[in-house]
Amino acid sequence: MMEEDEDTGGNNSTYEIDLGNLTVEDTEDEPVSTISTNGVAPQDEPPLILEEVTSPVPLVTPTQATKLMAQVQDSHMAINFKFEEKVFTNGQKPPLICGSCQKEGHCKADCREDELPPLVRLPPMNNHFLNQLTAIFEQLTKDFEPSVEEIEERDRIVSDLEAYIKQFFSGVQLKLFGSSANGFGFQRSDLDICLTFKGNPEGKDIDHIQIIEALADKLKRYRQCNHVFAITTAKVPIVKFAIRRACLEGDLSLYNTLALQNTKLLATYANIDHRVKCLGYAMKYFAKLCDIGDASRGSLSSYAYILMVLHFLQQVKPPVIPVLQELYDHSKAAPEYMIDGWNAWFFREAKGKTLAQHWKDYGKNRDSVGQLWVSMLRYYTETFNCRGHVVTIRQ
Ligand SMILES: [Zn+2]
Repeated sequence: MMEEDEDTGGNNSTYEIDLGNLTVEDTEDEPVSTISTNGVAPQDEPPLILEEVTSPVPLVTPTQATKLMAQVQDSHMAINFKFEEKVFTNGQKPPLICGSCQKEGHCKADCREDELPPLVRLPPMNNHFLNQLTAIFEQLTKDFEPSVEEIEERDRIVSDLEAYIKQFFSGVQLKLFGSSANGFGFQRSDLDICLTFKGNPEGKDIDHIQIIEALADKLKRYRQCNHVFAITTAKVPIVKFAIRRACLEGDLSLYNTLALQNTKLLATYANIDHRVKCLGYAMKYFAKLCDIGDASRGSLSSYAYILMVLHFLQQVKPPVIPVLQELYDHSKAAPEYMIDGWNAWFFREAKGKTLAQHWKDYGKNRDSVGQLWVSMLRYYTETFNCRGHVVTIRQ
């Protein structure tokens, strides 16, 4: 307590310092512009000139403040501190930044970024409209899905490429993944190819960058390819190339195993029921038409739109598709198929193990594609809460 009293001046005369305009009332008629030390301060410390601290924005460094305080206590001056908001902020307020959109001037609660336009009540859908919708979506799927010939050509390109690469890297296996193989790809979509080595399922002891560079080198000499270049600085190193004859572009990456498994999962869903494929194409086309389908410009990716379709079809009553990752005997431990730390197991049909046998809701939903489309729009605009819900196809 004693020390505190001494520090704060105790009962001694009060010093008032106005930081806004550091005025010095000198009782001994010293020049006002200089804080005189009256010879008390050591000679090697020059007296602090007042101009140094009377800037338009009054800022005093800790060192200056210490010096000032030393001078004040030893002199007869009275310095007036004014603890007023204006003095410290120069009249400026801290900006209000929205936590949601990061823009200035409003807080998160008042943010209008996520505000939806008022919904228009849809007219009651009669069968005539629903049938028309169904016909449109059936046609749309036919128009956009790759033909059998195109799928065969793609497979041939990949197997030719595999045979060529095998000459230099034994045990190489190439597999298509992504939209070109997940059952929801448009015609002429890029070829995403994953390279693995036989007998090394996890890609142990593989120098990705070195192999990618060597692959690019070899592909440059492959007659069917042009525009070959390696991108080794990305998180997933790839070789980019074009297939001359087919005018298709491709990316070759190593051990993209999780993406490969995701592709299989989506393809399995697409094959369960034709309506899944139809709604997937409809959704992707709808996003394109509305200009909300470009992930590089901040929209959802087409993969995300497919997940939205699958999620809707899983939760609609009765469901059109099951949750394949939940389709196991729950009296036993959950089956595991671990990839990169994720359990990527899902139910797959096999001889004597059909979906109809293992899923109680199989075939129960008889809605048309048109009906499902309207229900899906209704679900995501009226039921689904963007702030509180997540789209998942796992549970
Ligand atoms: Zn905002």
